[in-house]
Amino acid sequence: MELLIDQVSKKYGSKQALGDFSLRLGSGVLGLLGPNGAGKSTLMKILATLMHPTEGKVTLDGINIVNNPKELRKNLGYLPQDFGVYPNLNAIEFLEYMAAVKGLPMKLAKLRIQDLLEALNLAQDAKRKIGGYSGGMKQRVGIAQALLNDPKVLIVDEPTVGLDPEERIRFRNLLANMASGRIIILSTHIVSDIESLASQIAIMSEGRLLQHTLPEDLLVEMEGKVWECTVPSRKLPELQQSHVVSRAFQRSDGMHVRIISNRRPFPDAEMIAPTLEDAYLYYISVRTENGGDEE
Ligand code: ADP
Repeated sequence: MELLIDQVSKKYGSKQALGDFSLRLGSGVLGLLGPNGAGKSTLMKILATLMHPTEGKVTLDGINIVNNPKELRKNLGYLPQDFGVYPNLNAIEFLEYMAAVKGLPMKLAKLRIQDLLEALNLAQDAKRKIGGYSGGMKQRVGIAQALLNDPKVLIVDEPTVGLDPEERIRFRNLLANMASGRIIILSTHIVSDIESLASQIAIMSEGRLLQHTLPEDLLVEMEGKVWECTVPSRKLPELQQSHVVSRAFQRSDGMHVRIISNRRPFPDAEMIAPTLEDAYLYYISVRTENGGDEE
């Protein structure tokens, strides 16, 4: 299975939301990282065949999904960012409704709904109105509707917004269990959402792809670019102006500050092991600010 995004651009009027975006994907989980406004939702909507690109094409196993959206839709599950449930329906009613909208045979759909409710730990609440569900439960109903047709391509847009930490972890485990044999694309601006989950990472900003790589390669590339030093607390605002600070921890001896920089920022700064969060910050701030790698 191969999903190919080939030089895709999207303009809203004069606003260029995506520019010359290309990506080749096989099965596994792609973590699509980018700050708000980067163009993630726009890309997801194009992949979900809900929006046409202004230029470029998207193919699934060689079939152009822009011209033949039905081919992909049969194999597509999509959980949009602003997924709305019908609060007065219970989970079974809602999923049966969605199955009908998707044109699934109802006999098959009913069996599948039972399986999904079990798998998503919703069976006990399946007859309660969705309006009374927690954020995490609603999100699981959203995932259930995206999985009704056992999709080969699953697109989830910022799925953990509004979930508490426990629900986030549950959601991540759920996706991890579903990853084999599917292309899963998960967009987020929260690195920890994909840290344990993504087999590949794409970082985008201002409609452009900045990096597409394996998480482990991203970490190797970041070696020698993350530093720690201790500064008096009052110096932090100034430091944040002059450097990219990924984290700052208050300790008894002052602020322990994590700085991302191509060079040692201060003589007493110590080089430390990078995380994916450091890599993300590097791509969206240090690297672009300087117009490329400074060396
Ligand atoms: P993200 O999902 O990464 O936050 P979006 O794809 O929603 O990014 O938005 C990308 C850019 O396109 C943003 O600058 C946003 O303001 C703009 N945009 C998104 N949707 C529209 C629209 N319908 N009309 C005009 N501009 C839009």
